[in-house]
Amino acid sequence: MIQIDLTGQVAVVTGGSSGIGLATAELFLQAGASVAICGRDAERLARAEQGLRERFPQAQLLAARCDVLNADDVAAFAGAVEKRFGRTDMLVNNAGQGRVSTFADTTDEAWREELDLKYFSIIRPTRAFLPMLRSTAKQGNAAIVCVNSLLALQPEPHMVATSSARAGVLSLIKSLAGELAPERIRVNSILIGIVESGQWRRRYETQAKPGQSWEDWTGELARTKHIPLGRFGRPEEAARALFYLATSLSSYTTGSHIDVSGGVARHV
Ligand code: NDP
Repeated sequence: MIQIDLTGQVAVVTGGSSGIGLATAELFLQAGASVAICGRDAERLARAEQGLRERFPQAQLLAARCDVLNADDVAAFAGAVEKRFGRTDMLVNNAGQGRVSTFADTTDEAWREELDLKYFSIIRPTRAFLPMLRSTAKQGNAAIVCVNSLLALQPEPHMVATSSARAGVLSLIKSLAGELAPERIRVNSILIGIVESGQWRRRYETQAKPGQSWEDWTGELARTKHIPLGRFGRPEEAARALFYLATSLSSYTTGSHIDVSGGVARHV
């Protein structure tokens, strides 16, 4: 078994108060890293922080309210991480959500909002944490990992704006990887399909038939969506891929991505 000890290293996970981000924060804590998470909703963040502290009583953990689309919030979050931990080794750009809409029903405003979210949820935290990542890179592993979607390569008409933004973001990540490689900062992403998480729980609450269980509802969707592995992914399955790309386990990988879609990708 490969074991990795991240004691002394600092991982920052945006949107770490739920779903994939929370599962990723947990993995970093398990490996001994200090962890900083952020989210907009103070209650959700407090619940996540409490849960992590219960599971990891010795945890070096910082939970900060921060909207990644707000430049001042992001600067304050980076400042708080620097003050508390003095460094950042790994940045996971995870915060966000998808938008279900076709071309016919996506307004100009909705397009702008979606492009803003997908681009600036990467641009702002990356810019804010780069100075710390640059310092870390001189001594060892420094990495940025972004949560992206298979929609980047395989667009869906019912998620036209998200698919388009995801494709653009894939290009941004590749450019960033090229620009930062000489500084020894690696930049990678994961392309996920459907992962059980907060946003799917919310859809279940509004869309499931009366009395229909979560397992039935997700199983039915997995069949209609032709997911070869026959089920939704679990947050920890996405988290493990993020963990691999963030740590020195993937020290010779940059500008790349891992597919975590249960086999949905049709391309070779
Ligand atoms: P969750 O809703 O469970 O988690 C999203 C997290 O991001 C929450 O902590 C949320 O907290 C936070 N967040 C959202 N917007 C912002 C913001 N502007 N600033 C700071 N934090 C924010 O969903 P997932 O775990 O599924 O989502 C993680 C990522 O994976 C997202 O980027 C999503 O788009 C992407 N993704 C997920 C898929 C899936 O099937 N689950 C499919 C494809 C992509 P709060 O709301 O309190 O801010």
